[in-house]
Amino acid sequence: MTLLGTASDIKLINDDGLRLDGRGFDELRPIKIEVNVLNRADGSAYIEWGGNKILVGVYGPREAYPKHSQNINKAFVRARYSMAAFSVDERKRPGPDRRSIEISKVVSEALESAIIVEQFPRAEIDVFIEVLQADAGTRIAGLTASSVAVAAAGIPMRDLVVGCTAGKADGQVLLDLSKEEDNFGQADIPFAILPKTGEVVLMQMDGDLTVEEMSKAHSMLDKALKHIYNLQREALSKSFTDVVAQWGE
Ligand code: ADP
Repeated sequence: MTLLGTASDIKLINDDGLRLDGRGFDELRPIKIEVNVLNRADGSAYIEWGGNKILVGVYGPREAYPKHSQNINKAFVRARYSMAAFSVDERKRPGPDRRSIEISKVVSEALESAIIVEQFPRAEIDVFIEVLQADAGTRIAGLTASSVAVAAAGIPMRDLVVGCTAGKADGQVLLDLSKEEDNFGQADIPFAILPKTGEVVLMQMDGDLTVEEMSKAHSMLDKALKHIYNLQREALSKSFTDVVAQWGE
């Protein structure tokens, strides 16, 4: 017997149909996005999404290095996802591991779909995603903040990337899984799109969902993504308003 229990004996939905943190099935955790929080980055953003706290710094476009990484047709987008040693309950061993390499790859690819990379041949765009506190859904929160930081750097984009997760825990389809739901649930789907076209730029799936459950998850995601897209745009326009207000002082 373990203190935490197993996936089958953990109750993640209470008798009133609420989740452990009091949310309904299709309810997001609170999200707060701030833009241009780092002076030395070309663009930056900070996101708090539930218990996740993530800082993103963007550098570039700048000449790609080493030279053999240069592409004569487009810029190369290099996202680096990294979790601080103090970001989780047990000290996380610093440095890249298989998980962070995988996340860096899928986030780089998602951002590359949004950025007009053809405008910057031979260049690189570096996106540093520093997870200060992790509480499930960090790849999506990191990607959502990264696209805001890229926009804040003035890099031309087709659209922002907006993401959220859905999944299944305690037999129910749920939006934006918490740490317990992620650990002890039956499925987890990080999902991200370019909202203007609906193009899916990241979708992963851990676990199983039926076709009906998948369509339920999609309609929850659809509503949530519209809300998060508004938060991203509000954060960006607030940063411009703040700059313009300073000019008047
Ligand atoms: P995501 O953060 O995108 O949901 P995972 O599903 O791989 O990615 O991880 C879920 C959560 O598990 C993380 O957000 C974090 O809270 C926790 N976690 C991930 N890696 C570690 C680790 N090495 N040590 C402790 N907790 C971890």
